[in-house]
Amino acid sequence: MTLISKIDENNINKDEIKKQAKILRAGDTVIFPTETVYGLGANALDENAVSKIYEAKGRPSDNPLIVHIYDKNQVHKLAKDISDKANLVMDNFWPGPITIILNKKDIIPDRTSGGLSTVAIRMPSNAIARELLRETDLPIAAPSANISGRPSPTRAKHVYEEMNNRVEGIILGGDCTFGLESTVLDMTGDIPTILRPGSITKEDLEGIIGTVNIDPALERQEDNIKAKAPGMKYTHYSPNAEVFIVSGDEEKVFQKVNDLIDNNSKQGLKSAVLCIDKNKDKYKGDTIVLGQNLEEVASNLFDALISTDKEKYDIVYSEEFSNGGLGRAIMNRLLKSAGYKIIKV
Ligand code: AMP
Ligand code: MG
Repeated sequence: MTLISKIDENNINKDEIKKQAKILRAGDTVIFPTETVYGLGANALDENAVSKIYEAKGRPSDNPLIVHIYDKNQVHKLAKDISDKANLVMDNFWPGPITIILNKKDIIPDRTSGGLSTVAIRMPSNAIARELLRETDLPIAAPSANISGRPSPTRAKHVYEEMNNRVEGIILGGDCTFGLESTVLDMTGDIPTILRPGSITKEDLEGIIGTVNIDPALERQEDNIKAKAPGMKYTHYSPNAEVFIVSGDEEKVFQKVNDLIDNNSKQGLKSAVLCIDKNKDKYKGDTIVLGQNLEEVASNLFDALISTDKEKYDIVYSEEFSNGGLGRAIMNRLLKSAGYKIIKV
């Protein structure tokens, strides 16, 4: 049986945190909220505990995990060769939605690093996550708390519905603020490289540490299979419906999507459109509003994708977003969700 704790981020029940921390210290798994998405945690230093994460998610074992900490000093126990730029990133953006890749120390088991000589580390800002990490007093490996391949959970109900009884503990703690997984920044080379775009953007980083590269594999579909972050090569963020991105001049997009919706319904197929608020009346069929701006779109995207399962849509069309700033992170997730299928008009 899973121990369920409902915790309010603004009024944290420490007794419940203690119970969940005890589960983690005993080598079992606990799902907890972070400011990015819900994480499925276990003791990062215990191979046995970490194996339970892979098992609960059905995750391929060469896909390494992010290690979560609550105090910057913990980094020195886990990683080595920490550059000035890495310190700047930690000082400016932690706690917050950015993960850095550093050379690992031996204390990190292969199971956690997916056999790599590097380790991914992040200090989350969500108050529940921080309290849990402090109480547990262990580095906690935690990938997104979804079955592998599914959209990441950003609402308490997502983890409850998908993961109840697959883990020992679940903390239900409301909605995740950012709603996209952390930016992953490789800081082991001379020039830091973004392996996964997130809410902390290339532009934000360049303001602090100068030139930042983007893993070229992120920009080209055919190279995606060779992406450096091993997690980027698998099917991801897929609801039951088939997802397409529709790209082009706005008026043409409306026309094309409406034609497609008509066609689908003639074949008995149910369609939905993911769009921004101002366009919701432009489409004939069901619309799911992602928000009014990119921050809202990021925070609602996974919930929107997951909600298409409940309504049993067969086909989902999404509007396209510009590929800069936060738009880059949104498009990265959308493209994966769509299996890179773009309808150009
Ligand atoms: P998740 O924890 O599910 O949000 O995924 C973590 C992401 O970070 C995946 O894309 C991993 O492949 C990536 N990652 C974790 N550790 C490393 C590492 N040592 N080197 C490169 N990428 C990593
Ligand atoms: Mg994930």
